[in-house]
Amino acid sequence: MSLLVQKYGGTSVGSVERIEAVADRVSRFHGEGHDLVVVVSAMSGETNRLIALAKDIQDQPDPRELDVLVSTGEQVTIALLSMALKKRGIDARSYTGGQVRVLTDSAFNKARIQHIDVDRMQADLQARRVVVVAGFQGMDGQGNITTLGRGGSDTTGVALAAALKADECQIYTDVDGVYTTDPRMVPKATRLEKITFEEMLEMASQGSKVLQIRSVEFAGKYKVPLRVLSSFDEGPGTLITLDEEINSMEQPLVSGIAYNRDEAKITLVGVPDMPGVASKVLGPIGAANIEVDVIVQNVAANNTNDLTFTVHRNDLARAKAVLEANLDSIGAKQVLTADNIAKVSLVGVGMRSHAGVAATMFETLAKDNINIQMITTSEIKISVIIDERYLELAVRGLHTAFGLDKKSTSVAE
Ligand code: ADP
Ligand code: ASP
Ligand code: MG
Repeated sequence: MSLLVQKYGGTSVGSVERIEAVADRVSRFHGEGHDLVVVVSAMSGETNRLIALAKDIQDQPDPRELDVLVSTGEQVTIALLSMALKKRGIDARSYTGGQVRVLTDSAFNKARIQHIDVDRMQADLQARRVVVVAGFQGMDGQGNITTLGRGGSDTTGVALAAALKADECQIYTDVDGVYTTDPRMVPKATRLEKITFEEMLEMASQGSKVLQIRSVEFAGKYKVPLRVLSSFDEGPGTLITLDEEINSMEQPLVSGIAYNRDEAKITLVGVPDMPGVASKVLGPIGAANIEVDVIVQNVAANNTNDLTFTVHRNDLARAKAVLEANLDSIGAKQVLTADNIAKVSLVGVGMRSHAGVAATMFETLAKDNINIQMITTSEIKISVIIDERYLELAVRGLHTAFGLDKKSTSVAE
């Protein structure tokens, strides 16, 4: 029998009834003889509610205290699930991240897991107990509570699976697998049987939140067999797999489309055209710990350029203030900002060996009269920045153009 780490997301534990349903599923696997470590998220909406409470007190909540606060959401669900399992006659024990020694660095709100002590969990598993662990949280070297960033329970699940050398890490969520694009935006999206780690990493980093990016990094690094499944229906879900396991003959050009509404655009107008200027602009932005995504430079008149880049929307005001404070030393004329943009990305390892993806992408957008503001590419990805108003139109059009639409729609839907 195998050792399984199962992670249940917020919607899957969103009410007492749903927690009971998770307990039914866990007890079924336990009854079949599997050893189980179950990671849970907070009930859906709870983490947002806690963050909003903090923001009622401080605009920028103290990061350490914010982690003490938001980690409570998961403490509720581990206890409730363990009670539901005990009611079913299963010996279960709940643990916070700190209790099972998920040790992290001290970067509050976005901590990285450094080490996990598996002894306590292994002793429970030996005794046929189900181990229930709070996702999203850990503890630093000084005993402070830390959290792993939004969506971080996925990473807890994968990290525990790696540390325990589990046979599979199963991510149970409110969709029955990874789709060609967010099925909530495109009803014609298709579930993928398999996707490579590399593509999943790119999908996650381009905004597809079905898996937290760090969980995919972890799974790739430690070769954790990872599967995304529905907590409401039965089905095989989607296996995240190593590259060579997928037959390249069957590989479509584009495997998936991701989108992101979280970015904002900053244009620095009239930047002098001389060496060192880009670093004068982006240096202070980096020093303020603001991540930059897409960068484009246009040649303007009179030996000046316009430099445009994108940052997370939450960082826009800060980035603007940093640039305005440095405007004279950069020698630029003006800072313009826009937050009504969105990024659409095509992802696929098939792009490596085929030209023409970009051309088809641009043609498709042009047909719908969608203006491309910025473009960026990597070996297996092409991203464009467009006006947010056209996001759905763009994603749907591209989904059809690259042959990703579901072949037939079943009557039941
Ligand atoms: P959980 O609370 O279980 O962690 P999330 O809301 O974090 O669930 O992630 C699941 C959601 O991810 C789905 O409801 C879906 O809307 C969204 N999603 C975005 N892109 C995709 C995709 N390519 N395939 C499947 N789901 C996706
Ligand atoms: N509860 C946390 C969040 O909402 C972690 C998670 O759900 O994965 O971000
Ligand atoms: Mg999630």
